[in-house]
Amino acid sequence: GSTIGIIGGGQLARMLALAAARLGFKTAVLEPQENCPAAQVANVHIQTAYDDKEGLEKLSQLSDVITYEFENIDVSALEKLSSDIDVYPSAQALRISQDRLVEKTFLQKSGLNTAPYRDIDNAQTLESALQEFGERGILKTRRFGYDGKGQIRFSGKPDDMLPAEAIEAFEGAPAILEGFVEFTCEISVIASRGQDGNVSCFEPAENIHKNGILFSSTVPSSVSEATKQNAIDEATRLIQALDYVGTLGLEFFVMPDGSLIANEFAPRVHNSGHWTEAACSVSQFEQHIRCCIGWPLAKQHRHSDCVMENLLGHDIEKLVTLAGDPNIVLHNYGKAEAREGRKMGHFTQLATRK
Ligand code: ATP
Ligand code: MG
Ligand code: MG
Repeated sequence: GSTIGIIGGGQLARMLALAAARLGFKTAVLEPQENCPAAQVANVHIQTAYDDKEGLEKLSQLSDVITYEFENIDVSALEKLSSDIDVYPSAQALRISQDRLVEKTFLQKSGLNTAPYRDIDNAQTLESALQEFGERGILKTRRFGYDGKGQIRFSGKPDDMLPAEAIEAFEGAPAILEGFVEFTCEISVIASRGQDGNVSCFEPAENIHKNGILFSSTVPSSVSEATKQNAIDEATRLIQALDYVGTLGLEFFVMPDGSLIANEFAPRVHNSGHWTEAACSVSQFEQHIRCCIGWPLAKQHRHSDCVMENLLGHDIEKLVTLAGDPNIVLHNYGKAEAREGRKMGHFTQLATRK
């Protein structure tokens, strides 16, 4: 059978490898960390840095197609790899998602609404942008931010950082200021597009974040049917505009009138789609593998209402207690060290069957 090469060896790669194995495909993961979550289940572990030339070459020799679970890959290295082997999603999709300024511009160009944003390069541009946005907003690094890291909030109150202090804290990292969005809730859509161009979306999940980290995803969400359909339509528009192959996660803010503001997308399977492994006939991971291998997308079907919760740090120890509940589907990523805030596993509570 074919081998799927995965750049990155965290929990997303692990779950992709599990889905691939079920369909009879092999996986090779490239990840510097020893005994990483994916290495425990993949067929091959290439233990080098993500941008190591020889490692990437070895991965491409071992694989029939390459994908990634890790977004901070050097785009030019990925482009180069693409001349030897099929890489999904494309380097172009990665390039757009890596930079919040480019990403927001692309979202708008594709017809999606975003929060207002300004390119920030010094204290002066920050000060005037804050003035424009009523002294409220979020300064975000353009690159490498995740789980709410690389963000400074301005709430228009006296204990806010001064613009000059914030610029200093960013140590020259390129940034944008986003206007503060007064949303009623957050939802996300997991969308997949096959090599044949067909698109399939899971219905939106409603997401709760704590300390900038995803805490739970609930399906069905509390939004109206019209808003659900809009979210799916917008995700479809984006994935087509990107000429994307594979699965992506698109996050939205839902406004009081039900309209949507697109926040960001991730060019990979997404934490807010982990519920699909427990509540659907086919998961986001299998859909992604199908895209990589050139299979048709499954007409997935959700058989249960559910809530997925992340297990951070020592919360992973709850797994044993949860194991007694017949309506809970468990997932442990196999990470040795339960550092605070680290994603260690998750569980999905299915609604009790009638
Ligand atoms: P991740 O990639 O882990 O989802 P991130 O670090 O890329 O997170 P964002 O998704 O941009 O960060 O922001 C994290 C959370 O902060 C959002 O889910 C939302 O709750 C809040 N947030 C972000 N931007 C805004 C905004 N413009 N207005 C109001 N709240 C926001
Ligand atoms: Mg993000
Ligand atoms: Mg986010």
